[in-house]
Amino acid sequence: MELLNDLASLRAWVAARDLARERIGFVPTMGALHAGHLSLVRQARLRCDRVVASIFVNPTQFGPHEDFANYPRTLEADRAMLAGEGCDALFLPDAGMIYPDGFGTRVVVGPLGEDLCGRSRPGHFDGVALVVTILFHLVRPAVAFFGLKDYQQFVVIRRMARDLAMPVEVVGLPTVREADGLAMSSRNRYLEPGERQRAGSLYRALLAAKERYRAGERDPAVLEGEALRVLREGGIEGVEYVAVREAESLAPMERVSGEPVMLLAARVGRARLIDNMVLSLA
Ligand code: AMP
Repeated sequence: MELLNDLASLRAWVAARDLARERIGFVPTMGALHAGHLSLVRQARLRCDRVVASIFVNPTQFGPHEDFANYPRTLEADRAMLAGEGCDALFLPDAGMIYPDGFGTRVVVGPLGEDLCGRSRPGHFDGVALVVTILFHLVRPAVAFFGLKDYQQFVVIRRMARDLAMPVEVVGLPTVREADGLAMSSRNRYLEPGERQRAGSLYRALLAAKERYRAGERDPAVLEGEALRVLREGGIEGVEYVAVREAESLAPMERVSGEPVMLLAARVGRARLIDNMVLSLA
């Protein structure tokens, strides 16, 4: 796997792919990799000629009191995992390459980024959109791969790519889970053993709501109440939101119809965990 530590080597790598008429698949990450990230690399390998991953803990998507400084950084293990998965190149920029002196431009996502996670993390999705825009321009991928675990992020980026006519296909891939259903996340490392056990009830709450949906329940408040009940029973105190939304627009619905997705966020110990499930999928 080629290590691309600076913009010149990234540009040379991208230019060589262009010359060879190879389609680039791109997997942007913040590192502390796990099987969820690797599933994106695997799909990228299947669908593209070459795969480049990036690891960049993006300062502009963290709030002032969030975990930017303490975000897990495990570069050596990450490199080995990516190489083992057959990733062709790893782009490892530092903050000065992405945001050089004098940087001032902003990307504003609009309403899609203001609700749900955007309420407790104001500006978060603008920061995500900003870094993804810069990375897309540097890497020039044909296809970019994102996890549906970060469902709102996926919707925001897909919308941005369409709105701004970015020449990239944005693909969302299923959430990879631990044996008890907990969505894999770099932030699961923050969980103490008891918290880790309780965290499994996030998935159980989504499953319970889906059961009610399947049984015919179409009142979003009832579905949300069912998930909340399971979270409470599972000892999850710090629920931030539980919401049923339309899958593409993330709009609330009076009666659930079309493709509904349930999204939730909760604090468990030091970790802020999110998860979601499309209720209408098998
Ligand atoms: P992150 O490093 O957390 O920014 O995540 C990088 C990419 O991996 C994003 O597109 C995430 O949605 C995706 N991802 C994170 N966790 C998972 C998971 N458990 N399953 C699938 N994709 C994931």
